[in-house]
Amino acid sequence: MKKTVRDIDLAGKRVIVRCDFNVPIDGEGRITDETRIVGALPTIRFLIAQGAKTILMSHMGRPDGEVDLKYTLKPVAESLSAHLSQEVLFISSPVVVDDAVRAAAAGLAGGDVMLLENLRFRKGETKNDAAFAQELAELADVWVNDAFGTAHRAHASTAGIAAYLPAVSGFLIEKEVKFLGDAIEHPRRPLVAILGGAKVGDKIPVIENLLTKVDSLLIGGGMAYTFFKARGYEIGMSILDETHTEMAASLERAAKERGVALLLPADVKAATAFANDAEAGFCDADKIPADRMGLDIGPKTVALFTEKIRAAGTVIWNGPMGVFEMPNFAEGTKAVAQALAESGAVTVIGGGDSAAAVEQFGYGDRMSHISTGGGASLEFLEGKLLPGIAVLEDK
Ligand code: AMP
Repeated sequence: MKKTVRDIDLAGKRVIVRCDFNVPIDGEGRITDETRIVGALPTIRFLIAQGAKTILMSHMGRPDGEVDLKYTLKPVAESLSAHLSQEVLFISSPVVVDDAVRAAAAGLAGGDVMLLENLRFRKGETKNDAAFAQELAELADVWVNDAFGTAHRAHASTAGIAAYLPAVSGFLIEKEVKFLGDAIEHPRRPLVAILGGAKVGDKIPVIENLLTKVDSLLIGGGMAYTFFKARGYEIGMSILDETHTEMAASLERAAKERGVALLLPADVKAATAFANDAEAGFCDADKIPADRMGLDIGPKTVALFTEKIRAAGTVIWNGPMGVFEMPNFAEGTKAVAQALAESGAVTVIGGGDSAAAVEQFGYGDRMSHISTGGGASLEFLEGKLLPGIAVLEDK
């Protein structure tokens, strides 16, 4: 177990917190989705209540080590001030840490909050430069990591800084580690994993690791067609990753050897083109017409997957079942989201597309946990130790 903000004395301490304020900004510098800011508030409010002197930091976008005010965190400071009903001090330093920032940090009173400028204005951030990590560390007495979305990266603010300060997690990372960790290591069984999305290559390490943990593995989305091809099915114009057909065949063999039920779609919705208004119809998975492409799972598959989900103790879901961005090919993804919402299982949604789909269909508050990190949750499911979590102190 990793230490959290609850496990140390914070009163009067200067606490530097790595948050994920990588929020979308429109052309006029307005934040278009505050989810990540709202998500960070419980940890920040806790620190304020403890009388800590709080210094927040984050990256936004990819300014690539250059100062680009398109990516300034000023709008984030304004949003935070409004949510917290207190001023969040912000100094837009082109070097992130300078004498003015050091003086402001030293002058904070208990309960005060300040925000640093975009960490990626400095090249040292993504390079995990020790000197930059030390500059950040010298502002504070304690480091808190609460940015799960970057926990799979060893950057100065997400890992390097731990060499110089006591390191604990905030509430967001605590919840991610609890739900993702328990789902993989101590699941209520049966454990069912559902994988989808387009790119098989990205998911192979996840499948390999999950095959050692799960009772059933349900595969949908674009990646299913590479498995169909490996079985020798006609897949028409469906998406195929030819470089991974051999691998797909060997994963099916590995599942069989381990006694894991690996389920592919029984039927699909196949269309004449990659377009919402293309002519489309259902067909069995091994009978896709040569001039069509599968863009969603069909009703037989929904019934098959729903049955597995109903009987599950824990479900982990990563990746859409079809091209859910197009309403005519969103039904399969929606049906799986609904089955999860209605099941009594512990339901854990990987970040990225599946998280977006669950929210889009209005089932967000009916899931046990929706991960805030796409890449990070995938690496967690691969069984990798995430650098931003590995450096936290053990209880
Ligand atoms: P990934 O980034 O690999 O998780 O893939 C997510 C994308 O896969 C989404 O944008 C979906 O539209 C896409 N996708 C899902 N099913 C299919 C399919 N059958 N054919 C093409 N793309 C798909």
